[in-house]
Amino acid sequence: MDELLAGVRRFRADVFPDRRSQFDRLSNGQSPRALFITCSDSRVVSELITQSEPGDLFICRNAGNIVPPHGQLAGSVAAAVEYAVMALKVPDIIVCGHTDCGAMKAALHPEGLEAMPAVAGWLHHAAAARRVAAEAMPMAADDTVRLEALTRANVQAQLVNLRTHPAVAASLAAGRLRVHGWIFDIKAGEVLVLDPTRAVWAPLGQAQADDVDPDLGATIVAGAA
Ligand SMILES: [Zn+2]
Repeated sequence: MDELLAGVRRFRADVFPDRRSQFDRLSNGQSPRALFITCSDSRVVSELITQSEPGDLFICRNAGNIVPPHGQLAGSVAAAVEYAVMALKVPDIIVCGHTDCGAMKAALHPEGLEAMPAVAGWLHHAAAARRVAAEAMPMAADDTVRLEALTRANVQAQLVNLRTHPAVAASLAAGRLRVHGWIFDIKAGEVLVLDPTRAVWAPLGQAQADDVDPDLGATIVAGAA
């Protein structure tokens, strides 16, 4: 905790003075470029990955970057999505998973969640992705391969859930909104992007996705995004 407090002091003393005009401009409102839905994991730093500034990203974080379908739960994710789309009129929504995700590992091995009923309940929203990934994986696939397949299937499943929210569905239909699936590879420092037309994943900026290993469950939920 001491390090966090020291950080706040450094921000006040060393960082804020140079950014005073930026925060002054932001003090009366925001117009973010995107809604960024990602995992609570401490290693996924949305602004760092996208090199964004304060005011750029409206961020919604939870264990497993999950978007419960509309109607199931009038919870914080639904409120963040509705506010971002209706009030802030963001033009883009990004659902960003990541490698080595603890939530996805737990979804793969729910037997370890007996002492964490809230986590277990929340991860029911990853059940469809778990089934899809399991269908795509041979039984003999090792945990690393299954985790990667589930991580990808989960982002694709959450994009499908996202479309069930009326504000999203209406804005997509009107052409005011785009949705994107990303996965941040922590070790490689790379972002994989879902190509919605072919339902394959490829590193950002790579025109051809042919190099993506099809065994990694890249073509799981066609039609997402
Ligand atoms: Zn995670």
